[in-house]
Amino acid sequence: MKRISFLFIVCFIIFSCQKSIKNIVNIDPTIDSLLVKKHLFTLASDEMEGRKVGTPGIEKAASYIETEFNNLGLTFYDSLHGYRQTFTFKSREDNQVITTSNIIGVLLGKSKKEEYVIISAHYDHLGIKNISGDSIFNGANDNASGVTGVLTLAKYFKEKKLNERTIIFVAFTAEEMGLVGSKYFGKGIDSSKYIAGINLEMIGKSPKFGSNTAWLTGFDRSDLGQIIQKNLLGTGYQLFPDPYLNYNLFFRSDNASLARLGVPSHSFSTTSVDLDQDYHQPSDEVQTLNINVITQTIIAIAKGTESVINGQDTPSRVILTNGKN
Ligand SMILES: [Zn+2]
Repeated sequence: MKRISFLFIVCFIIFSCQKSIKNIVNIDPTIDSLLVKKHLFTLASDEMEGRKVGTPGIEKAASYIETEFNNLGLTFYDSLHGYRQTFTFKSREDNQVITTSNIIGVLLGKSKKEEYVIISAHYDHLGIKNISGDSIFNGANDNASGVTGVLTLAKYFKEKKLNERTIIFVAFTAEEMGLVGSKYFGKGIDSSKYIAGINLEMIGKSPKFGSNTAWLTGFDRSDLGQIIQKNLLGTGYQLFPDPYLNYNLFFRSDNASLARLGVPSHSFSTTSVDLDQDYHQPSDEVQTLNINVITQTIIAIAKGTESVINGQDTPSRVILTNGKN
């Protein structure tokens, strides 16, 4: 009897261990929803005052992103002495001259240091407006969710050490004022070194294709989308071409600034832009978002882009006729 009990206990322990090992394989410990929540809630908090360019609110967001890059040990971009790429521009709204910064952190590639993959999202939003009621435009979906993705992916790829290519993580400024930050960044680059651009834009809501799906802007303009689809086979997560072609979204987010230079640079999104009631409204708050959607999408981007990050796949270049469409 004792012997049978002993055998039972041994079997139970072995079974339990196998189960926990299996869980670790299935759920990547470096992308967890608690970290996603921390970044999202911080960036979309009232304290950040809607992250309008030129305000103390966006300064707090910039400091937060810098601190995260620093904690991860990312290095500086190009000849910069910090994570900020600072510049001035004239606002098209009121002709004011504004000083602002893209926040850039670099994870050097192991064997292909001169081949770059950029992972980006804009961190600015609309700020506070003089309206009654809730006057803070928190921009939780647009685009605290995307920056949350960039920060989480930076941690993931830093820990995974699979990047044969150099990854440049960028939080772009002044997207809402006309893609100003990404245009400035694009002016200074040798685009031939940029292998792919992965931009995250509003990844916090369930898309019309159902859960565990996202869509990619400009899907047919390079084969990056097909490469990602191939890498996601069997994961249960699906990537679709952008279903809102009449919205011209490919040219309306920061991916466009690099795509115009030929870089296969596209935006990931999950939001049904035709139905979304919170777009550019004070109601774009964290309560309207689904943490699980954000987390699963970040995991899908990590898995989906792995063969580009590790140098196995090289997507085709974007060719624009007239430089416009
Ligand atoms: Zn946006």
